[in-house]
Amino acid sequence: MLPRTIIMGWSLIDELTRDFVMSNRYNCLNCPGYCCSYPLIALEKRDVERLGKHHGMSFEEAKVAFTEEAHGRKYAMRRKKDPHYGKICQFFDTVKRCCTIYTARPKVCRAYPNTQRCGYYEFLQFERRAQEDPEFVALTDHR
Ligand code: SF4
Ligand code: SF4
Repeated sequence: MLPRTIIMGWSLIDELTRDFVMSNRYNCLNCPGYCCSYPLIALEKRDVERLGKHHGMSFEEAKVAFTEEAHGRKYAMRRKKDPHYGKICQFFDTVKRCCTIYTARPKVCRAYPNTQRCGYYEFLQFERRAQEDPEFVALTDHR
């Protein structure tokens, strides 16, 4: 039988290895923000309230300013033009390629992609390797 200290050491390594393997296999900081270009970014009432609070607005003001009825949803995020994906969330910085309201972002943005892998990120990395261009933006049509 191995000494207890070594067993404990191995347990720790196993735990660290497991955490490494289980950790997210995508890096949003190295992505041009594909998920922010989805045609529908569905908001809940609580999301609109949070956006209003963040901007010093009432719920009604935030609803008018930031949402529209679309895709069968009462509160859908308004979008704007984007040079890569056609259209993207109004709160996306299309130059820096990041969210401008990160602390106030909607619930759906906090949860996405709900798994430890992101299909678009894998597609992006594959294309960047194939094109031998670390800045390459793999496109989809989200107009
Ligand atoms: S598409 Fe994937 S990698 Fe890119 S920002 Fe969204 S979750 Fe992150
Ligand atoms: S609120 Fe931020 S994270 Fe959510 S879609 Fe818009 S830019 Fe992306």
